[in-house]
Amino acid sequence: NVTLALETSCDETSAAVVSDGRTILANIISSQIPTHQKFGGVVPEIASRKHIENVIPVIDQALTAAGTTLADVNAIGVTYGPGLVGALLVGVATAKTLAFALNKPLIGVNHLEGHIFANFLAHRELKPPFVALVVSGGHTSLIHLKDYNDLELLGQTRDDAAGEAFDKIARVMNFPYPGGPHIDKTAREGNPEAIAFPRAFNVLEGENRFAFSFSGLKSAVLNYLNSAGQRKEEISIPDVAASFQAAVVDVLVRKTIDAAEYTGTSKIVLAGGVAANSSLQDKLTAEAAKRGLSLYYPPAVLCTDNAAMIACRAYYQFLAGDFADLNLNAVPALKLG
Ligand code: ATP
Ligand code: MG
Ligand code: FE
Repeated sequence: NVTLALETSCDETSAAVVSDGRTILANIISSQIPTHQKFGGVVPEIASRKHIENVIPVIDQALTAAGTTLADVNAIGVTYGPGLVGALLVGVATAKTLAFALNKPLIGVNHLEGHIFANFLAHRELKPPFVALVVSGGHTSLIHLKDYNDLELLGQTRDDAAGEAFDKIARVMNFPYPGGPHIDKTAREGNPEAIAFPRAFNVLEGENRFAFSFSGLKSAVLNYLNSAGQRKEEISIPDVAASFQAAVVDVLVRKTIDAAEYTGTSKIVLAGGVAANSSLQDKLTAEAAKRGLSLYYPPAVLCTDNAAMIACRAYYQFLAGDFADLNLNAVPALKLG
């Protein structure tokens, strides 16, 4: 099986060719980060226009790099949500056109499920069941993946996503967009115990057991920076970065381990852009090892948005006969599970 997939949910235009769901033949990612950087974040209308310019060249590049032609393609996968509506529509319209012209099955993929499935590309031996922590620019969710097509949402953030908190804090500290990787790097030179930032919903029982909240933490960091600035105190940016990151990572690690114990699974999977965070990887590696749990995460290029993960997800839907028709539409607020 050769799957061609498209991903245009946010600010990456990506096309990939994947064989039998697990082998990447090509994964072309055209990032718009330089375009949006001067605005400090993604501008939706500009993102849509850039996708229109990029989508066909990116598909051509992917087919060439894979050494395949459209005639070799057995299925077309595409992200149809969640994401920016105008951005999603470019991928959906292109995928529908290809599926119709080639008379090949069309598969609508949930972007967040794609993030989880990136792990099947990186770890060929990995199989369900497992617990997945999806930590991305727009989502923070704990999922029990019981089987390839059987996902249960255990809990999610009640306000900001982890990646959103990283990006907002980075912005006030004058790091370029997206700020997550800059905080990660700067935090290595700081003391994570220098400032006691709050850890929200840090409980392992009740209705908030698998819930997250990061907006209070964001306010606490902003207040700290403002009041220290007013008092003309010396601010250590590495200490702020390290203390903020520790507050995020502590809660993520504790709840993810708890979710593994709750579901009785021995495997934990990290997914989404924040899965590339070195402190999250290190802390979770240590805590998982203590309990005899295995931890999996993708290489950085497969943590952030890419079409290979969408092709992988599409392949397992293909096996289950989960096809879309030409009425497929973008669903900006598509839910998991
Ligand atoms: P979603 O997947 O929820 O729709 P998105 O697609 O915009 O959102 P991703 O591409 O999965 O998000 O991830 C991007 C996010 O990951 C950004 O917020 C970015 O700052 C964050 N990120 C990337 N690398 C790191 C890192 N090393 N440490 C912390 N955050 C990181
Ligand atoms: Mg992005
Ligand atoms: Fe994403």
